[in-house]
Amino acid sequence: MRKKLRMLESFVPQGLVDFYLELSKVLIPEDVINYAPPSPEVLNEGCKKGLPLIRLCRPQVKTPDFFFTVMKQIAAIIQKHHPDLNTEMTQVEKALPDDVANQELFVSQAFIPGSNLLIHLKQNVSSDAFGFLLNHTVKPFMQQYGKMVASLYDLEQWQKGSCPVCGGRPGLALLEREAGKRYLYCGLCEVKWRFQRLGCPYCLNGKSQFFTVEGEGLEKYRVYFCDQCRGYLKTINRKKVNDEETDLFWEDINTVYLDILALQEGYFNKQEAN
Ligand SMILES: [Zn+2]
Ligand SMILES: [Zn+2]
Repeated sequence: MRKKLRMLESFVPQGLVDFYLELSKVLIPEDVINYAPPSPEVLNEGCKKGLPLIRLCRPQVKTPDFFFTVMKQIAAIIQKHHPDLNTEMTQVEKALPDDVANQELFVSQAFIPGSNLLIHLKQNVSSDAFGFLLNHTVKPFMQQYGKMVASLYDLEQWQKGSCPVCGGRPGLALLEREAGKRYLYCGLCEVKWRFQRLGCPYCLNGKSQFFTVEGEGLEKYRVYFCDQCRGYLKTINRKKVNDEETDLFWEDINTVYLDILALQEGYFNKQEAN
């Protein structure tokens, strides 16, 4: 099934682009992250069982105070672009642990999906503001970690609906020019892996349906949606793109209006749901 929606406003708010532009400049040097490379047997077994690499070799930040330096840097970027969060960010910064033992504990837990870090803070803060800051702080570390470890698995063979590095759900998909090839993309570690051409990666429903949007430059986008789990997946059709490579990080941000359309149609962003 194919639906065509009409785009009324396809622009991306400049404020959003500026925010992400500044965030994307926060880079983590490779030598800050450590991990213990798993043996071939462990990798083999992990791949068979579908365990993400973060479960086999957790990233360790060599100097935990560096994590807090980055966190403060991100807090400043948030304050600049979201002045409404000013007070909350200041409160979170004040509540961060300052003794080495607690800092180490905090940082080690930051890379375990689903762990509650609020309990390591010195006082109560807004959990939304804290989560927002934490996610944006963890992201550049995960991106660097992803670069370092992704090749431990054969990303052509992984073929799962979740990220081979962090286990997260894909935020975007890519249809290659070569027939039948689809890749999924993790918005957290920016890793891309092969997945079956058809079907929903969130609930593995085999049915595929998508809508497209009218408008100049929008021919390359499809939004796949699933009536079983109500998830949607923004997809870039590389057959309609001339560039050598597609920058999925920016594609994700440049297509926020597709998210809005999908939400309006009653579908959910499964990348964010746990
Ligand atoms: Zn990931
Ligand atoms: Zn589904």
